[in-house]
Amino acid sequence: GAAIRLTGVTKHFAGSATAAVHPTDLAIEAGEIHGIIGFSGAGKSTLLRLVNLLERPDAGLVEVGDDELSALPPLALRAARRRIGMIFQQFNLLHNLSVAENVAFPLRIAGDSPASIKARVAECLDYVGLSAKAAAYPGQLSGGQKQRVAIARALAPNPGVLLADEPTSALDPRTTQSILDVLADINQRFGVTVLLVTHEMSVVRRLCHRVSVMDEGRIVEQIDLRTGFTAP
Ligand code: ADP
Ligand code: ADP
Repeated sequence: GAAIRLTGVTKHFAGSATAAVHPTDLAIEAGEIHGIIGFSGAGKSTLLRLVNLLERPDAGLVEVGDDELSALPPLALRAARRRIGMIFQQFNLLHNLSVAENVAFPLRIAGDSPASIKARVAECLDYVGLSAKAAAYPGQLSGGQKQRVAIARALAPNPGVLLADEPTSALDPRTTQSILDVLADINQRFGVTVLLVTHEMSVVRRLCHRVSVMDEGRIVEQIDLRTGFTAP
């Protein structure tokens, strides 16, 4: 079944002449790495943020796994969001917290026990190769290391879905490749469904199974990179 399903999802920001996202349908298969590509202002980031309700849709259904997020009351929405990780272009780490405290953050909010948090943080930092930086602060890390910490934080609650908003756009080409390798590994090893926004076709070609092309708030084309099949 679909890991993510958007049905007729619409977003119009107040004061804007046109909708950022016109009524849009999108189904992402479980286990897929799906790219959303398009020019700046096409609505990619808004569409991604509609998936975890960082943006509230004006209309339409947002389903992630078995949850219809758009229908959940706040408390249930918070629980459902635990199953959705997110990473960002600018990493969005908390700069006054250590690397380990950043990774622990979502687990603390969820009320996990200190012992289980400690074990899970160690596991996630080991996975991204940053155990030695547990006590460091984000300001002491390179861009690639910061994104690895952000990935560890996103994975800590063991999400089924990972949303990535231009995750390599602030990184040099070599670091970009290493982060794309981590994302591919997360998908393969843990079966995490990945939905990734980028403006770079090279990122899509190296990572994605399918891609949706966005223009002016609409998905105008969908391409299966495994078969080359194009749907209107
Ligand atoms: P992309 O990610 O493809 O660059 P965005 O989703 O960021 O595009 O933006 C789509 C459109 O929505 C743009 O016209 C942008 O200016 C507008 N927009 C995005 N976020 C907001 C916001 N919080 N308030 C008002 N307009 C916004
Ligand atoms: P506010 O009510 O303060 O606007 P938001 O829901 O917009 O809160 O979230 C604020 C910030 O928290 C976001 O910009 C994002 O960095 C982070 N955030 C919120 N929810 C998530 C999530 N599910 N995954 C990752 N980061 C999140």
